[in-house]
Amino acid sequence: MDFSLSQEQLAVREVVRKFVDEEILPHIREWDEKHHFEPRILQRLAELGLMGVCIPEKYGGAGMDYNTLAIVCDELERGDIAFRTAVSVHTGLNSLTLLQWGTEEQKQKYLVPQARGEKIGAFGLTEPNAGSDVAAMRTTAVRDGDSYILNGSKIWISLADVADHFLVFAYTDRAKKHHGITAFIVERGWEGFSTRSIKGKLGIRAGNTGELFFDHVRVPVENRVGEEGEGFRIAMSALDNGRFTVAAGACGCIAACLEASVKYCHERETFGQPIGKHQLVQQMIAKMAANLESSRLLVYRAGWLKNQGLPNTRETSLAKWVACDAAWEAASDAVQIHGAYGYSNEYPVERYLRNAKAPVIYEGTREIHTILQAEYALGYRRDKPLSRRLPAWPFEE
Ligand SMILES: Cc1cc2nc3c(=O)[nH]c(=O)nc-3n(C[C@H](O)[C@H](O)[C@H](O)COP(=O)(O)OP(=O)(O)OC[C@H]3O[C@@H](n4cnc5c(N)ncnc54)[C@H](O)[C@@H]3O)c2cc1C
Repeated sequence: MDFSLSQEQLAVREVVRKFVDEEILPHIREWDEKHHFEPRILQRLAELGLMGVCIPEKYGGAGMDYNTLAIVCDELERGDIAFRTAVSVHTGLNSLTLLQWGTEEQKQKYLVPQARGEKIGAFGLTEPNAGSDVAAMRTTAVRDGDSYILNGSKIWISLADVADHFLVFAYTDRAKKHHGITAFIVERGWEGFSTRSIKGKLGIRAGNTGELFFDHVRVPVENRVGEEGEGFRIAMSALDNGRFTVAAGACGCIAACLEASVKYCHERETFGQPIGKHQLVQQMIAKMAANLESSRLLVYRAGWLKNQGLPNTRETSLAKWVACDAAWEAASDAVQIHGAYGYSNEYPVERYLRNAKAPVIYEGTREIHTILQAEYALGYRRDKPLSRRLPAWPFEE
């Protein structure tokens, strides 16, 4: 067992940390206040080679391992969740799914520009009536010659107004329920396809979230990902990678809460001593420190399994559930430690608290992960092997 980070991983961590310190933190309060999504950040991430960090070099990526993606997400969310969410959907949910399930033509056409950060990918699964219950979706894809005609809509889609390519899911045969869902790549600009931003969000205000609308959108057969009816399994395997990045980001949120709280503990005095000397405040700090370490270990173990090419649905779900709950608790305690000052945006901790709620909801709610973990432990759930696996790392040339 080797717990050390490689020289390459340490170097990437330094690059992202510096980037966050210099290019995100000085502006984030304003972007958050104005609900402003800053597109320049994605361009800069592309220039730094971070939009396809764990995509093989032959497909335009940096060819690094899956835990390097975790490091990028961890450090990005120390800055703000909006940019980690962008990497989660672009790389975790979209690009890695194309790497695992795409045809060679789809990889050349869509994955290569995405890995280089020239094009942005998003992931459309959720619908107004279908979140946790994916099979309740209503979007349909009807075969018409060498195309499918898509009708329906998606909601709560990260990067809806920003992305160029959308991996979306629709029923090709509703009677077959989960086995009747199929995955497709849709491009912005196609006739009948439109998007709209969602306003008034609690958090991720520096990010973009919206709706997708399909009105008789003609999708060529070559844009079908996998076989007809394979969409549900593709979506769940995409979530194995998306959830991994969300868990890693949650570690960055805990780190940011700890950093801000420790600083404040040394600055603020009550009853003649710094508040860090009070045991009940120490309890909150200790909990953050413990949760940060244990969450990172769960994330890195899931990443290690990915590197080996081994199944990791159970371990990734555990990491996502534990890390996101811990981040939510850390953000709440960080506000508590700051007292009334934590309740205003004079300090960053109120933003951490608003932001920490979404990861407890998206990519499987806390309740869904609790059920999954109980079912694994009770022996009610066993994962069947997939027809295609994410490639092990190091990648074959
Ligand atoms: C900021 C943000 C960004 C998002 N980005 C994306 C994206 O890019 N792509 C995408 O496809 N989706 C995205 N989502 C959607 C997200 O994945 C869904 O919100 C999530 O799956 C939950 O679905 P829901 O909101 O419909 O809640 P519901 O499924 O309606 O659940 C409501 C409540 O009931 C609970 N519940 C549901 N079923 C059960 C059960 N069986 N047992 C116990 N409790 C249960 C849930 O845990 C929750 O507390 C995003 C959401 C947010 C908030």
